[in-house]
Amino acid sequence: MENKTIEKAKKHIMHTYGTFPMVFDHGKGCVLVDDQGKEYLDFVAGIAVNALGYGHPVLLEKLQEQMHKLLHISNLYYNKPAVDLAEKLTKASGMDRAFFCNSGAEAVEAALKLSRVYCKKNKSEQAHKIISMKNSFHGRTFGAISATGQLKYQKDLDPMLPEVTFAAFNDLDDVRSKITPQTAAIIVEPIQGEGGINPATVEFLQGLRTLCDQEQIVLIFDEVQSGIGRTGDLFAYQGYGVKPDIVACAKGLGAGVPMGAILAKENIASAFAPGSHASTFGGNALSATAALVVLEELLEKGLMENVQKQGKQLKGILEDLQSSFSCIKAVKGKGLMMGIQLEGVEPSAVVAKAMEKGLLILGAGSDVVRFVPPLIVGETEMETFAQIMKSVLEDCS
Ligand SMILES: *Cc1c(COP(=O)(O)O)cnc(C)c1O
Repeated sequence: MENKTIEKAKKHIMHTYGTFPMVFDHGKGCVLVDDQGKEYLDFVAGIAVNALGYGHPVLLEKLQEQMHKLLHISNLYYNKPAVDLAEKLTKASGMDRAFFCNSGAEAVEAALKLSRVYCKKNKSEQAHKIISMKNSFHGRTFGAISATGQLKYQKDLDPMLPEVTFAAFNDLDDVRSKITPQTAAIIVEPIQGEGGINPATVEFLQGLRTLCDQEQIVLIFDEVQSGIGRTGDLFAYQGYGVKPDIVACAKGLGAGVPMGAILAKENIASAFAPGSHASTFGGNALSATAALVVLEELLEKGLMENVQKQGKQLKGILEDLQSSFSCIKAVKGKGLMMGIQLEGVEPSAVVAKAMEKGLLILGAGSDVVRFVPPLIVGETEMETFAQIMKSVLEDCS
């Protein structure tokens, strides 16, 4: 059956995505409806973005109210939603200052720039090197992609930003061996997302913290995917009990309105002076309003507790499936950022079969299927998910 929208897209949109031939029209809660009227239970959530699902009444009301007042005024002036958001985010994260931007990659750029500026001013003129992890993902801008430890993303883009070295994830000795007096920052995802839902060990993050303190290196956590309640803590680092110097977040922060941020400790943040860095749309009144709603729901309306509860449920479901299906090698992740590692079955086959049966899921890394539902997901949706996944794995095994 031909679809006019898809035909038009193929003609006019650059072919940068492996897009499924589906056009979604609207959504409600955790369900998306396509233009043929078919419903899908959504465990992708715009790739860990739609924290509040679709049509969340409070989000809609607050956005509508703000839209009637103003959308954007530039950072030449203050807007109250952004200031309130900075206060809330810094309090809840234990950080001191925020910088707002629009996406994950942009947050990573800000973190890399801030750490270099800090080190040039406080460590040495030559301290500009970055250590990142193999199998990491930090975004698609040149700086962020240069710090991404997966060659497939860097194909045909050479030369990358120089001075980035890659160490093995969860291998403290390897990181230690790569540190020099010129190291400015270490960037790491507490739970690697795109790389395949790989959690860091507590010892690794603690070890990095100690190394960074000893060597005056800025520790950056990229929590673009794992942050904003996804793991059952506002930031995954809070569950680990290890605090970075800078944390980058985006994805779930605006619940679908583009929004990114870095939060930093005062001594680091103060390296930025007026003119050091900027973003035209950063902390725009509309996106800040969306983020304020997300934080209020998480911290004051019980949404975080829901993530913890449904996260346990999800883990239980996946472990049950693992005991019935030998193709599941491992169940990985935390809270509502979970994955199953497969053996002998292609993740893409599982994703396609699930789609046929009305469930949206996605791959991560080379052999993992990932589950990142809206944080508002409930008991009933979890039951439906369990039923569909069981039938999908029966068909795929
Ligand atoms: C998605 C992601 C990014 C990039 O975010 P964009 O908004 O696509 O630029 C960076 N880091 C991590 C860990 C991510 O998951």
